[in-house]
Amino acid sequence: MGEIANCPNCSTIFEKTKFRDVCDQCYKEEEKMFDKVYRYIKKKENRTATVEQVLEDTGIEEELLIKFIKTGRLRPLLYPNLRYKCEKCGELIREGQLCPTCKEKMVKELKTFEAEEKRKNDIIERSSRNTYHVNDYKKRFTDND
Ligand SMILES: [Zn+2]
Ligand SMILES: [Zn+2]
Repeated sequence: MGEIANCPNCSTIFEKTKFRDVCDQCYKEEEKMFDKVYRYIKKKENRTATVEQVLEDTGIEEELLIKFIKTGRLRPLLYPNLRYKCEKCGELIREGQLCPTCKEKMVKELKTFEAEEKRKNDIIERSSRNTYHVNDYKKRFTDND
C-alpha cells in the first residue's frame, strides 16, 4: 500500500508507491518520453550525446531527463556524456545529487554541526545543574533565615 499524495507534475491526487512518484496519467507520459529518449540514445551515434543534445533532439523536459539519469534508468556507464549539475556548485556529475567535493564538504559540515550541538547541550546541561545548585543554596539560606 502506498500513501495518498499530490502528483508533483499536475497536482492530481494519487497513490504514491516506492516505484511511482507521479499519477497514472503523468506516469504514462513519462514512460512515453522514456521510450522516446531510450530509442534515441541507444542508437550508436547518439551514445555520447550530452543532456543538451538529448533535450534538443527528443523534446523531453530537462527535469524528467535528469530524473531518468538519477534513478539509473539511463545508465551513466553506457552514456558517459549524460551529466547534470551538482545541486550545490554546478559541476557536472553522473550520479547522486552532489559532486564528490560537495558530498565530502557536507559530511564534514554535518560532523561539525553535530559536535557544536553536543557542545551546546553540554553547556545547557551544566548551567541547569548550576542553577539548581544556586536555587538550592538560596532555598537553604531562606529556610535558615
Ligand atoms: Zn500527474
Ligand atoms: Zn558540487
